[in-house]
Amino acid sequence: MAKRREFIAAIIPVAGALVAFPPLVLADIAALTEDDKMGKAMGFRLQTDKADTVKYPKHTNEQVCAKCVHYATPTAETARCDVFNKTVPKGGWCSGFSKRP
Ligand code: SF4
Repeated sequence: MAKRREFIAAIIPVAGALVAFPPLVLADIAALTEDDKMGKAMGFRLQTDKADTVKYPKHTNEQVCAKCVHYATPTAETARCDVFNKTVPKGGWCSGFSKRP
């Protein structure tokens, strides 16, 4: 029981730091680029209006990372995308777009 309390006492400051300083955590995550191998395979673009509409005819300019279910923080300018585990800009797009409900 004492070990459990010690564990909880040890983890609370770490959890608190993650909540208090999310930009520091985000800074550790690489930004997705258009040259990224997986990004290329999924047609990733930093700006949705640069998407290849011939290859992805269902794409619309209303589809942006900020409206995608995979975008971790909808109000942020840049956030982690859980498909790539990298940060993407709110106005980006890829073929993995899935509208946030
Ligand atoms: S999966 Fe969604 S958030 Fe991630 S890059 Fe594609 S459109 Fe953007």
